[in-house]
Amino acid sequence: MYRAFLIKYSEIGIKGKNRYLFEDALCHNINIALSNVEGDFVVSKEQGRIYIEVKSETYDYDDAVDTLKRVFGIAAICPVILLDSKEWDVICAEAVKHVGERYEDRNFTFKVEAKRGDKSYPYTSPEIGMHLGAVLIDAYPELKVDVYNPSVRVTVEIRKMTYIYSESIKGPGGMPVGTSGKAMLLLSGGIDSPVAGYMISKRGVKLEAVYFHAPPYTSERAKKKVITLAKLIAKYTGSFKLHIINFTDIQMAIYEKCPHDELTIIMRRYMMRIAEKLAYESDCYGLITGESIGQVASQTMQSLNCTNDVCTLPVYRPLIAFDKQDIVEISQKIDTFETSILPFEDCCTIFVAKHPVTKPDVKIIRKSETKLEDVIDDMLATAYETDEIIEITV
Ligand code: ATP
Ligand code: MG
Repeated sequence: MYRAFLIKYSEIGIKGKNRYLFEDALCHNINIALSNVEGDFVVSKEQGRIYIEVKSETYDYDDAVDTLKRVFGIAAICPVILLDSKEWDVICAEAVKHVGERYEDRNFTFKVEAKRGDKSYPYTSPEIGMHLGAVLIDAYPELKVDVYNPSVRVTVEIRKMTYIYSESIKGPGGMPVGTSGKAMLLLSGGIDSPVAGYMISKRGVKLEAVYFHAPPYTSERAKKKVITLAKLIAKYTGSFKLHIINFTDIQMAIYEKCPHDELTIIMRRYMMRIAEKLAYESDCYGLITGESIGQVASQTMQSLNCTNDVCTLPVYRPLIAFDKQDIVEISQKIDTFETSILPFEDCCTIFVAKHPVTKPDVKIIRKSETKLEDVIDDMLATAYETDEIIEITV
């Protein structure tokens, strides 16, 4: 029934002279997202609006809407009846048909809102609203007008063509991916880091990601799980590169040479160092982690201070003040939860100390790391050389 969608966007509407860049990025991202949906779609920009026209005879409406609900930058998706005609009688007939088909129970308040791109139209916008409102009440006497707080806004836009819509499906909000630079996500197999990547990407940031694995202590299944998580978030963030870094030798060296209660902190510092080097090489302007204050020993203020100590790029920690339950809710919403809780070992759980320091002192940690001096450079070089890059596509 719907042959088009009107896409409403929020924040990108206020970007002044750069607005077209945001609109173009949004159109581009919509195009890519819809390329996986059955049907032919043409995305266009017109007078501060984005329209999607369906060109094929048939298309998968539900999939199209679900897909658009994942494109950051979209505030609302309005399925539209598209008319070639501007004839008043045709508009009235189509509006009556639409309300009849779309709403089985018509015991609601409504208002007709009209917009005229075509100023030569014989009726003004308020006149269109008034007349069409009367026509709808004639057709469905159970309808009630409420101009201040209607449940349904039947909107008619008369431009080159006529658009009729009454439904507004909430989009994900945020900014189009690609409009805010790129950042490197430290993606583990847990619940938190996929959510962290999703949240930063929602602000328009393009992702690249790195996963540290430690074969044979971590299995091929654990790696596959991370790839699956990457694919799940790519439905929102768009395609990105995932680096798989072999961390076994570094982890073993830390285990052999450093105090066991400091293992996790030192490990995390090496992860950050490696992630940062990859980030600089890929023009990323920051790192992203799923850390949250106090969640585990390695995420106390003192521990975070030690981890941060090795970074020069900003580290974005969007979950820093979130309770676990709130993070779980987002992971359920974005569909990563079920994968995240699969019980595969990750490289931190295997080498974890029984009693890790919870208030590490950065000077002591730095000193412990000097025990790695003889071996670490070669190990880091090997880790970079054996970087496996996987293209995560939508
Ligand atoms: P998550 O649920 O994201 O795994 P977590 O609660 O298990 O987080 P930690 O294991 O302390 O927390 O890790 C903190 C952050 O460090 C993670 O959110 C992630 O960004 C990063 N990280 C941890 N392990 C890895 C790994 N193996 N590969 C890449 N990043 C990792
Ligand atoms: Mg983890």
